[in-house]
Amino acid sequence: MHSLVWFRNDLRVTDNPALYQACSDSDRVSAVYIDCPHQWKLHGQSAVQREFIAHNLEALGRELSALGISLNVFRCDSFADVPALLDNWVRELDVAALYANVDLGVNEYRRDRAVDARLNIPLHRFNGDCVVSHGSLRTGDGHMYRVFTPFSRAWIKHVIRDGYRLLPPPQTFEPLVTGTGDTETSQHHQGSLETIWPASEAAAQRRLTEFCRQHLMDYGADRDFPDLDGTSGLSPYLAIGVLSPNQCLAAIEIELGQLPLSLGEAGFTWLNELIWREFYRHLLAAHPRLSMHCAFKPETDRIKWRHDEGLFQSWCQGKTGYPIVDAAMRCLNQTGWMHNRLRMITAGFLTKDLQIDWRLGEAYFMSRLIDGDLAANNGGWQWAAGTGADAAPYFRIFNPTTQSQRFDRHGHFIKRWVPELAEVPKQYIHTPHAWLSRQGLAQCYPAPVVDHALERRRAIEMFESIRRRNASYTQSV
Ligand code: FAD
Repeated sequence: MHSLVWFRNDLRVTDNPALYQACSDSDRVSAVYIDCPHQWKLHGQSAVQREFIAHNLEALGRELSALGISLNVFRCDSFADVPALLDNWVRELDVAALYANVDLGVNEYRRDRAVDARLNIPLHRFNGDCVVSHGSLRTGDGHMYRVFTPFSRAWIKHVIRDGYRLLPPPQTFEPLVTGTGDTETSQHHQGSLETIWPASEAAAQRRLTEFCRQHLMDYGADRDFPDLDGTSGLSPYLAIGVLSPNQCLAAIEIELGQLPLSLGEAGFTWLNELIWREFYRHLLAAHPRLSMHCAFKPETDRIKWRHDEGLFQSWCQGKTGYPIVDAAMRCLNQTGWMHNRLRMITAGFLTKDLQIDWRLGEAYFMSRLIDGDLAANNGGWQWAAGTGADAAPYFRIFNPTTQSQRFDRHGHFIKRWVPELAEVPKQYIHTPHAWLSRQGLAQCYPAPVVDHALERRRAIEMFESIRRRNASYTQSV
Protein backbone atom coordinates (compact mmCIF):
# COMPACT_ATOMS: atom_id res chain seq x y z
CA MET A 1 0.00 0.00 0.00
CA HIS A 2 1.17 3.53 -0.80
CA SER A 3 0.40 6.10 1.94
CA LEU A 4 0.80 9.84 2.19
CA VAL A 5 1.87 11.64 5.39
CA TRP A 6 0.69 15.23 5.62
CA PHE A 7 3.10 17.26 7.79
CA ARG A 8 1.73 20.33 9.54
CA ASN A 9 2.89 21.26 13.04
CA ASP A 10 5.05 18.18 13.49
CA LEU A 11 8.22 18.69 11.45
CA ARG A 12 10.15 15.68 12.75
CA VAL A 13 10.68 12.02 11.91
CA THR A 14 11.25 10.74 15.46
CA ASP A 15 8.28 10.32 17.77
CA ASN A 16 5.91 11.24 14.98
CA PRO A 17 2.85 8.99 15.37
CA ALA A 18 1.36 9.72 11.92
CA LEU A 19 4.64 9.01 10.14
CA TYR A 20 5.36 5.99 12.29
CA GLN A 21 1.96 4.42 11.67
CA ALA A 22 2.02 5.17 7.94
CA CYS A 23 5.40 3.45 7.65
CA SER A 24 4.18 0.44 9.65
CA ASP A 25 1.04 0.07 7.53
CA SER A 26 2.54 0.63 4.10
CA ASP A 27 5.19 -0.58 1.70
CA ARG A 28 5.64 2.88 0.22
CA VAL A 29 5.26 6.28 1.88
CA SER A 30 5.31 9.80 0.49
CA ALA A 31 5.11 13.04 2.41
CA VAL A 32 3.60 16.44 1.79
CA TYR A 33 3.66 19.87 3.41
CA ILE A 34 1.33 22.64 2.27
CA ASP A 35 2.45 26.20 2.74
CA CYS A 36 -0.46 28.67 2.86
CA PRO A 37 1.06 32.17 3.01
CA HIS A 38 -2.21 34.08 2.84
CA GLN A 39 -3.80 31.92 5.53
CA TRP A 40 -0.75 32.31 7.78
CA LYS A 41 -1.02 36.06 7.28
CA LEU A 42 -4.63 35.92 8.45
CA HIS A 43 -3.43 33.97 11.50
CA GLY A 44 -0.86 36.71 12.10
CA GLN A 45 2.14 34.39 11.89
CA SER A 46 5.53 36.09 12.10
CA ALA A 47 8.01 36.27 9.23
CA VAL A 48 10.72 34.83 11.44
CA GLN A 49 8.65 31.76 12.28
CA ARG A 50 7.88 31.24 8.59
CA GLU A 51 11.59 31.43 7.90
CA PHE A 52 12.31 28.96 10.69
CA ILE A 53 9.70 26.56 9.28
CA ALA A 54 11.28 26.84 5.82
CA HIS A 55 14.71 25.92 7.18
CA ASN A 56 13.31 23.04 9.16
CA LEU A 57 11.44 21.78 6.10
CA GLU A 58 14.72 21.56 4.26
CA ALA A 59 16.17 19.52 7.11
CA LEU A 60 13.04 17.36 7.28
CA GLY A 61 13.24 16.75 3.54
CA ARG A 62 16.78 15.43 3.97
CA GLU A 63 15.81 13.23 6.94
CA LEU A 64 12.87 11.76 5.07
CA SER A 65 14.93 11.23 1.97
CA ALA A 66 17.35 9.10 3.99
CA LEU A 67 14.36 7.00 5.05
CA GLY A 68 13.29 6.56 1.43
CA ILE A 69 10.40 9.03 1.64
CA SER A 70 10.10 12.05 -0.63
CA LEU A 71 8.72 15.28 0.78
CA ASN A 72 6.85 17.56 -1.59
CA VAL A 73 6.19 21.10 -0.46
CA PHE A 74 3.25 22.81 -2.15
CA ARG A 75 2.07 26.34 -1.87
CA CYS A 76 -1.51 27.53 -2.04
CA ASP A 77 -3.09 30.70 -0.82
CA SER A 78 -5.54 29.59 1.80
CA PHE A 79 -6.91 26.54 3.59
CA ALA A 80 -9.89 26.59 1.21
CA ASP A 81 -7.57 25.42 -1.60
CA VAL A 82 -6.10 22.53 0.38
CA PRO A 83 -8.76 19.83 -0.25
CA ALA A 84 -8.51 20.13 -4.05
CA LEU A 85 -4.73 20.25 -3.94
CA LEU A 86 -4.51 17.13 -1.79
CA ASP A 87 -7.14 15.36 -3.87
CA ASN A 88 -5.09 15.90 -7.04
CA TRP A 89 -1.90 14.80 -5.38
CA VAL A 90 -3.48 11.70 -3.86
CA ARG A 91 -4.81 10.70 -7.28
CA GLU A 92 -1.53 11.38 -9.01
CA LEU A 93 0.42 9.26 -6.52
CA ASP A 94 -2.31 6.65 -6.33
CA VAL A 95 -2.28 6.81 -2.56
CA ALA A 96 -4.53 4.58 -0.45
CA ALA A 97 -4.51 6.46 2.87
CA LEU A 98 -3.60 9.84 4.34
CA TYR A 99 -1.94 10.18 7.77
CA ALA A 100 -1.63 13.33 9.86
CA ASN A 101 -1.20 14.48 13.44
CA VAL A 102 -3.87 16.68 14.99
CA ASP A 103 -3.43 20.39 14.30
CA LEU A 104 -5.27 22.61 16.80
CA GLY A 105 -7.42 25.64 15.90
CA VAL A 106 -10.85 26.17 14.40
CA ASN A 107 -9.66 26.92 10.86
CA GLU A 108 -7.36 23.91 10.95
CA TYR A 109 -10.22 21.73 12.14
CA ARG A 110 -12.51 22.99 9.34
CA ARG A 111 -9.75 22.48 6.77
CA ASP A 112 -9.26 18.88 7.92
CA ARG A 113 -12.99 18.21 7.80
CA ALA A 114 -13.14 19.56 4.25
CA VAL A 115 -10.19 17.36 3.26
CA ASP A 116 -11.86 14.34 4.82
CA ALA A 117 -15.07 15.07 2.92
CA ARG A 118 -13.28 15.60 -0.39
CA LEU A 119 -10.93 12.58 -0.45
CA ASN A 120 -12.03 9.09 -1.28
CA ILE A 121 -9.39 7.62 1.00
CA PRO A 122 -9.29 7.48 4.81
CA LEU A 123 -7.63 10.28 6.79
CA HIS A 124 -5.98 8.78 9.91
CA ARG A 125 -5.29 11.32 12.65
CA PHE A 126 -3.04 10.98 15.69
CA ASN A 127 -2.08 12.89 18.81
CA GLY A 128 1.43 14.13 18.20
CA ASP A 129 1.67 17.36 20.17
CA CYS A 130 1.02 16.33 23.78
CA VAL A 131 2.22 13.62 26.14
CA VAL A 132 -1.38 13.07 27.23
CA SER A 133 -3.96 13.30 24.41
CA HIS A 134 -6.40 16.20 24.39
CA GLY A 135 -9.74 15.24 25.85
CA SER A 136 -8.44 12.37 27.96
CA LEU A 137 -8.22 14.31 31.24
CA ARG A 138 -11.61 15.20 32.70
CA THR A 139 -13.02 16.50 35.96
CA GLY A 140 -15.48 14.37 37.93
CA ASP A 141 -18.36 15.91 35.97
CA GLY A 142 -16.72 15.15 32.65
CA HIS A 143 -15.42 18.60 31.70
CA MET A 144 -11.97 19.89 30.87
CA TYR A 145 -10.23 21.37 33.94
CA ARG A 146 -10.46 25.15 34.29
CA VAL A 147 -7.70 25.33 36.88
CA PHE A 148 -4.09 24.32 36.33
CA THR A 149 -3.24 22.56 39.63
CA PRO A 150 -5.93 19.85 39.46
CA PHE A 151 -5.16 19.46 35.75
CA SER A 152 -1.49 18.91 36.53
CA ARG A 153 -2.39 16.37 39.26
CA ALA A 154 -4.55 14.45 36.79
CA TRP A 155 -1.79 14.69 34.16
CA ILE A 156 0.79 13.29 36.59
CA LYS A 157 -1.54 10.50 37.68
CA HIS A 158 -2.07 9.59 34.04
CA VAL A 159 1.67 9.50 33.34
CA ILE A 160 2.35 7.43 36.47
CA ARG A 161 -0.33 4.95 35.39
CA ASP A 162 0.29 4.79 31.63
CA GLY A 163 3.79 6.20 31.23
CA TYR A 164 4.53 8.05 28.01
CA ARG A 165 5.19 6.63 24.60
CA LEU A 166 8.28 7.67 22.70
CA LEU A 167 8.21 6.33 19.17
CA PRO A 168 11.45 5.52 17.37
CA PRO A 169 12.12 6.78 13.84
CA PRO A 170 10.02 4.75 11.40
CA GLN A 171 11.19 1.84 9.27
CA THR A 172 13.41 2.74 6.35
CA PHE A 173 12.51 2.22 2.72
CA GLU A 174 14.99 2.31 -0.14
CA PRO A 175 16.86 5.64 0.38
CA LEU A 176 16.10 8.23 -2.30
CA VAL A 177 18.86 9.53 -4.49
CA THR A 178 17.46 13.05 -4.95
CA GLY A 179 14.39 15.13 -4.43
CA THR A 180 13.27 16.81 -1.29
CA GLY A 181 10.64 18.77 -3.20
CA ASP A 182 10.23 22.48 -3.61
CA THR A 183 11.39 23.93 -0.32
CA GLU A 184 11.34 27.53 -1.41
CA THR A 185 12.69 29.91 1.24
CA SER A 186 13.68 33.51 1.49
CA GLN A 187 17.19 34.08 2.73
CA HIS A 188 16.28 37.09 4.81
CA HIS A 189 17.09 35.92 8.32
CA GLN A 190 19.25 32.98 7.36
CA GLY A 191 22.60 33.99 8.86
CA SER A 192 21.48 35.13 12.29
CA LEU A 193 18.56 32.74 12.48
CA GLU A 194 20.77 29.73 11.83
CA THR A 195 23.23 30.87 14.47
CA ILE A 196 20.66 31.36 17.23
CA TRP A 197 18.10 28.75 16.25
CA PRO A 198 19.79 26.16 14.02
CA ALA A 199 17.23 24.14 12.10
CA SER A 200 16.75 20.34 12.30
CA GLU A 201 15.73 17.70 14.77
CA ALA A 202 19.36 17.00 15.54
CA ALA A 203 19.89 20.66 16.52
CA ALA A 204 16.80 20.57 18.74
CA GLN A 205 17.98 17.35 20.37
CA ARG A 206 21.41 18.82 21.02
CA ARG A 207 19.87 21.83 22.72
CA LEU A 208 17.60 19.58 24.77
CA THR A 209 20.43 17.34 25.90
CA GLU A 210 22.67 20.28 26.73
CA PHE A 211 19.91 22.01 28.68
CA CYS A 212 19.18 18.87 30.71
CA ARG A 213 22.87 18.29 31.44
CA GLN A 214 23.77 21.87 32.32
CA HIS A 215 20.66 23.72 33.48
CA LEU A 216 17.85 21.38 34.50
CA MET A 217 18.90 21.18 38.14
CA ASP A 218 19.22 24.97 38.45
CA TYR A 219 16.12 25.78 36.42
CA GLY A 220 13.96 26.49 39.49
CA ALA A 221 16.46 29.06 40.77
CA ASP A 222 17.49 30.62 37.44
CA ARG A 223 14.40 30.60 35.28
CA ASP A 224 13.10 34.05 36.23
CA PHE A 225 16.23 36.03 35.41
CA PRO A 226 16.26 37.13 31.78
CA ASP A 227 19.96 37.89 31.81
CA LEU A 228 20.84 34.28 32.71
CA ASP A 229 20.85 31.40 30.31
CA GLY A 230 18.47 29.64 32.68
CA THR A 231 15.67 28.35 30.45
CA SER A 232 15.82 25.82 27.64
CA GLY A 233 15.13 28.04 24.61
CA LEU A 234 13.29 25.06 23.14
CA SER A 235 10.00 26.83 22.48
CA PRO A 236 10.67 27.55 18.76
CA TYR A 237 11.21 23.80 18.19
CA LEU A 238 8.25 22.70 20.29
CA ALA A 239 5.95 25.25 18.62
CA ILE A 240 6.41 23.78 15.13
CA GLY A 241 6.89 20.21 16.27
CA VAL A 242 10.58 19.76 15.44
CA LEU A 243 10.73 18.45 18.99
CA SER A 244 8.02 16.52 20.85
CA PRO A 245 7.15 16.80 24.54
CA ASN A 246 7.76 13.04 24.89
CA GLN A 247 11.34 13.66 23.82
CA CYS A 248 11.61 16.26 26.59
CA LEU A 249 10.36 13.73 29.14
CA ALA A 250 12.80 11.12 27.86
CA ALA A 251 15.70 13.59 28.16
CA ILE A 252 14.72 14.44 31.76
CA GLU A 253 14.57 10.74 32.58
CA ILE A 254 17.97 10.09 31.03
CA GLU A 255 19.47 12.94 33.01
CA LEU A 256 17.85 12.18 36.36
CA GLY A 257 17.29 8.44 36.11
CA GLN A 258 13.55 8.95 36.60
CA LEU A 259 10.81 11.47 35.95
CA PRO A 260 10.40 13.96 38.81
CA LEU A 261 6.65 13.76 39.30
CA SER A 262 6.16 15.63 42.54
CA LEU A 263 6.62 19.18 43.71
CA GLY A 264 10.01 19.73 45.31
CA GLU A 265 11.74 16.97 43.35
CA ALA A 266 14.75 18.16 41.38
CA GLY A 267 13.74 18.84 37.80
CA PHE A 268 10.03 19.07 38.55
CA THR A 269 9.84 22.82 37.92
CA TRP A 270 10.80 22.38 34.28
CA LEU A 271 8.47 19.42 33.82
CA ASN A 272 5.72 21.60 35.28
CA GLU A 273 6.23 24.13 32.46
CA LEU A 274 5.70 21.34 29.96
CA ILE A 275 2.46 20.54 31.81
CA TRP A 276 1.41 24.21 31.47
CA ARG A 277 1.98 23.80 27.74
CA GLU A 278 -0.33 20.78 27.73
CA PHE A 279 -2.91 22.60 29.89
CA TYR A 280 -3.27 25.35 27.30
CA ARG A 281 -3.44 22.88 24.43
CA HIS A 282 -6.11 20.81 26.17
CA LEU A 283 -8.04 24.03 26.89
CA LEU A 284 -7.90 25.07 23.25
CA ALA A 285 -9.05 21.64 22.11
CA ALA A 286 -11.95 21.74 24.60
CA HIS A 287 -12.86 25.39 23.86
CA PRO A 288 -12.17 26.06 20.17
CA ARG A 289 -13.70 29.54 20.57
CA LEU A 290 -10.40 30.53 22.25
CA SER A 291 -8.86 30.54 18.80
CA MET A 292 -11.50 33.05 17.63
CA HIS A 293 -10.51 35.97 19.89
CA CYS A 294 -13.00 35.08 22.65
CA ALA A 295 -12.18 35.56 26.32
CA PHE A 296 -12.32 32.38 28.38
CA LYS A 297 -14.43 34.29 30.93
CA PRO A 298 -17.19 35.77 28.74
CA GLU A 299 -18.10 38.42 31.34
CA THR A 300 -14.72 40.06 30.78
CA ASP A 301 -15.76 40.83 27.20
CA ARG A 302 -17.68 43.75 28.77
CA ILE A 303 -14.46 45.45 29.84
CA LYS A 304 -14.07 48.83 28.17
CA TRP A 305 -10.47 48.64 27.05
CA ARG A 306 -8.70 51.87 26.24
CA HIS A 307 -8.30 52.76 22.55
CA ASP A 308 -5.08 54.70 22.24
CA GLU A 309 -2.92 53.98 19.24
CA GLY A 310 -0.11 56.21 20.53
CA LEU A 311 0.15 54.28 23.80
CA PHE A 312 -0.06 50.97 21.97
CA GLN A 313 2.74 51.98 19.61
CA SER A 314 4.92 53.09 22.53
CA TRP A 315 4.54 49.58 23.94
CA CYS A 316 5.19 47.86 20.59
CA GLN A 317 8.31 49.90 19.94
CA GLY A 318 9.71 49.71 23.46
CA LYS A 319 9.31 53.41 24.19
CA THR A 320 7.13 53.42 27.29
CA GLY A 321 9.70 54.97 29.62
CA TYR A 322 9.65 51.79 31.75
CA PRO A 323 13.12 50.34 31.09
CA ILE A 324 12.33 46.68 31.67
CA VAL A 325 9.26 46.83 29.41
CA ASP A 326 11.19 48.66 26.72
CA ALA A 327 14.16 46.29 26.89
CA ALA A 328 11.84 43.29 26.61
CA MET A 329 9.90 44.68 23.64
CA ARG A 330 13.05 45.67 21.79
CA CYS A 331 14.49 42.21 22.40
CA LEU A 332 11.30 40.70 20.94
CA ASN A 333 11.39 43.04 17.93
CA GLN A 334 15.01 42.28 17.17
CA THR A 335 15.25 38.56 17.94
CA GLY A 336 11.72 37.14 17.72
CA TRP A 337 11.99 35.71 21.23
CA MET A 338 11.25 36.93 24.75
CA HIS A 339 11.95 35.42 28.15
CA ASN A 340 8.86 34.15 30.03
CA ARG A 341 9.24 36.58 32.97
CA LEU A 342 9.34 39.44 30.47
CA ARG A 343 6.31 38.13 28.60
CA MET A 344 4.43 38.29 31.90
CA ILE A 345 5.71 41.81 32.66
CA THR A 346 5.01 43.25 29.20
CA ALA A 347 1.61 41.57 28.92
CA GLY A 348 0.67 42.82 32.39
CA PHE A 349 1.85 46.31 31.45
CA LEU A 350 -0.23 46.43 28.26
CA THR A 351 -3.41 45.10 29.83
CA LYS A 352 -3.24 46.68 33.32
CA ASP A 353 -1.06 49.79 33.12
CA LEU A 354 -2.24 50.79 29.65
CA GLN A 355 -5.61 48.97 29.87
CA ILE A 356 -5.32 48.02 26.22
CA ASP A 357 -7.18 44.95 24.97
CA TRP A 358 -5.14 41.75 25.41
CA ARG A 359 -6.12 40.71 21.88
CA LEU A 360 -3.90 43.47 20.45
CA GLY A 361 -0.99 42.24 22.51
CA GLU A 362 -1.67 38.63 21.57
CA ALA A 363 -1.68 39.52 17.87
CA TYR A 364 1.45 41.65 18.20
CA PHE A 365 3.35 38.85 19.94
CA MET A 366 2.19 36.39 17.29
CA SER A 367 3.41 38.69 14.53
CA ARG A 368 6.88 38.82 16.11
CA LEU A 369 7.55 35.54 17.91
CA ILE A 370 9.61 32.74 16.45
CA ASP A 371 7.83 30.41 18.90
CA GLY A 372 4.33 31.81 18.22
CA ASP A 373 1.95 29.14 19.39
CA LEU A 374 -1.79 29.77 19.42
CA ALA A 375 -2.50 27.81 22.60
CA ALA A 376 0.42 29.10 24.72
CA ASN A 377 0.17 32.66 23.45
CA ASN A 378 -3.57 32.88 24.00
CA GLY A 379 -3.22 31.18 27.38
CA GLY A 380 -0.40 33.53 28.44
CA TRP A 381 -2.26 36.65 27.33
CA GLN A 382 -5.53 35.68 28.93
CA TRP A 383 -3.66 34.75 32.10
CA ALA A 384 -2.01 38.19 32.22
CA ALA A 385 -5.20 40.06 31.32
CA GLY A 386 -7.28 38.25 33.94
CA THR A 387 -9.73 37.00 31.31
CA GLY A 388 -8.52 33.40 31.09
CA ALA A 389 -8.93 30.05 32.78
CA ASP A 390 -6.92 30.08 35.99
CA ALA A 391 -5.86 33.68 35.26
CA ALA A 392 -3.85 35.93 37.54
CA PRO A 393 -6.33 37.50 40.03
CA TYR A 394 -7.37 40.92 38.71
CA PHE A 395 -6.07 42.75 41.80
CA ARG A 396 -2.58 41.22 41.59
CA ILE A 397 -0.98 43.69 39.24
CA PHE A 398 2.70 43.52 38.37
CA ASN A 399 4.65 46.62 39.26
CA PRO A 400 7.12 46.93 36.36
CA THR A 401 9.66 48.74 38.51
CA THR A 402 9.76 46.24 41.36
CA GLN A 403 9.73 43.37 38.86
CA SER A 404 12.73 44.99 37.22
CA GLN A 405 14.50 45.42 40.57
CA ARG A 406 13.89 41.76 41.43
CA PHE A 407 14.65 40.08 38.15
CA ASP A 408 17.21 42.36 36.49
CA ARG A 409 18.80 43.70 39.66
CA HIS A 410 21.93 45.17 38.09
CA GLY A 411 20.15 46.23 34.92
CA HIS A 412 22.34 44.07 32.66
CA PHE A 413 19.39 43.03 30.51
CA ILE A 414 18.07 46.60 30.29
CA LYS A 415 21.43 47.97 29.24
CA ARG A 416 21.81 45.34 26.54
CA TRP A 417 18.56 46.31 24.83
CA VAL A 418 18.17 50.00 25.68
CA PRO A 419 21.53 51.48 24.72
CA GLU A 420 20.39 55.00 25.71
CA LEU A 421 20.59 53.76 29.31
CA ALA A 422 24.03 52.17 29.05
CA GLU A 423 25.70 54.83 31.20
CA VAL A 424 23.05 54.98 33.92
CA PRO A 425 24.45 53.83 37.29
CA LYS A 426 22.85 50.60 38.43
CA GLN A 427 21.08 52.18 41.42
CA TYR A 428 19.06 54.38 39.00
CA ILE A 429 18.60 51.94 36.13
CA HIS A 430 15.02 50.95 36.97
CA THR A 431 13.79 54.57 37.20
CA PRO A 432 16.47 56.52 35.30
CA HIS A 433 14.60 59.77 34.58
CA ALA A 434 15.84 61.94 37.44
CA TRP A 435 19.44 60.87 36.82
CA LEU A 436 19.13 61.49 33.07
CA SER A 437 17.68 64.94 33.82
CA ARG A 438 20.57 65.80 36.09
CA GLN A 439 22.98 64.86 33.28
CA GLY A 440 21.02 66.95 30.78
CA LEU A 441 20.06 63.76 28.95
CA ALA A 442 16.33 63.76 29.61
CA GLN A 443 15.50 63.90 25.89
CA CYS A 444 17.44 60.66 25.22
CA TYR A 445 14.84 58.39 26.76
CA PRO A 446 11.02 58.71 26.93
CA ALA A 447 9.33 59.86 30.12
CA PRO A 448 6.98 57.19 31.56
CA VAL A 449 3.87 57.11 29.35
CA VAL A 450 1.64 56.43 32.37
CA ASP A 451 1.82 56.59 36.15
CA HIS A 452 1.81 53.02 37.47
CA ALA A 453 0.13 53.75 40.83
CA LEU A 454 -2.72 55.63 39.17
CA GLU A 455 -3.24 53.06 36.41
CA ARG A 456 -3.17 50.25 38.91
CA ARG A 457 -6.16 51.76 40.71
CA ARG A 458 -7.95 52.32 37.39
CA ALA A 459 -7.37 48.73 36.29
CA ILE A 460 -8.70 47.34 39.57
CA GLU A 461 -11.77 49.57 39.30
CA MET A 462 -12.27 48.40 35.69
CA PHE A 463 -12.42 44.78 36.85
CA GLU A 464 -14.46 45.52 39.95
CA SER A 465 -17.13 47.27 37.93
CA ILE A 466 -17.43 44.13 35.80
CA ARG A 467 -17.71 42.03 38.94
CA ARG A 468 -20.42 44.31 40.34
CA ARG A 469 -22.38 44.25 37.09
CA ASN A 470 -21.94 40.52 36.89
CA ALA A 471 -23.14 40.03 40.47
CA SER A 472 -26.23 42.19 39.92
CA TYR A 473 -26.90 40.36 36.65
CA THR A 474 -26.56 36.97 38.41
CA GLN A 475 -28.91 38.14 41.19
CA SER A 476 -31.54 39.39 38.74
CA VAL A 477 -31.77 36.10 36.76
P1 FAD B 1 11.32 26.83 29.28
O1 FAD B 1 11.18 27.63 30.52
O2 FAD B 1 12.56 26.10 29.07
O3 FAD B 1 10.08 25.82 29.26
C1 FAD B 1 10.09 24.63 28.45
C2 FAD B 1 8.91 24.62 27.52
O4 FAD B 1 7.69 24.57 28.26
C3 FAD B 1 8.81 25.85 26.64
O5 FAD B 1 9.65 25.75 25.52
C4 FAD B 1 7.33 25.86 26.28
O6 FAD B 1 7.03 24.97 25.24
C5 FAD B 1 6.69 25.33 27.57
N1 FAD B 1 6.28 26.44 28.43
C6 FAD B 1 7.03 27.10 29.33
N2 FAD B 1 6.30 28.02 29.99
C7 FAD B 1 5.06 27.95 29.47
C8 FAD B 1 3.84 28.64 29.71
N3 FAD B 1 3.74 29.59 30.65
N4 FAD B 1 2.76 28.33 28.97
C9 FAD B 1 2.82 27.35 28.04
N5 FAD B 1 3.94 26.67 27.76
C10 FAD B 1 5.04 26.95 28.46
N6 FAD B 1 5.09 30.03 24.68
C11 FAD B 1 5.17 29.60 23.40
O7 FAD B 1 5.74 28.52 23.16
N7 FAD B 1 4.62 30.32 22.38
C12 FAD B 1 3.97 31.50 22.59
O8 FAD B 1 3.47 32.10 21.64
C13 FAD B 1 3.92 32.00 23.93
N8 FAD B 1 3.35 33.19 24.19
C14 FAD B 1 3.29 33.64 25.49
C15 FAD B 1 2.65 34.86 25.76
C16 FAD B 1 2.57 35.33 27.07
C17 FAD B 1 1.89 36.64 27.35
C18 FAD B 1 3.13 34.57 28.12
C19 FAD B 1 3.05 35.07 29.53
C20 FAD B 1 3.74 33.36 27.87
C21 FAD B 1 3.82 32.87 26.55
N9 FAD B 1 4.47 31.65 26.26
C22 FAD B 1 4.50 31.21 24.97
C23 FAD B 1 4.98 30.78 27.34
C24 FAD B 1 6.45 30.97 27.71
O9 FAD B 1 6.74 32.32 27.90
C25 FAD B 1 7.39 30.40 26.66
O10 FAD B 1 7.02 29.09 26.35
C26 FAD B 1 8.83 30.36 27.20
O11 FAD B 1 9.27 31.64 27.52
C27 FAD B 1 9.73 29.75 26.15
O12 FAD B 1 11.06 29.74 26.60
P2 FAD B 1 11.82 28.38 26.88
O13 FAD B 1 11.67 27.47 25.72
O14 FAD B 1 13.19 28.74 27.30
O15 FAD B 1 10.96 27.82 28.08
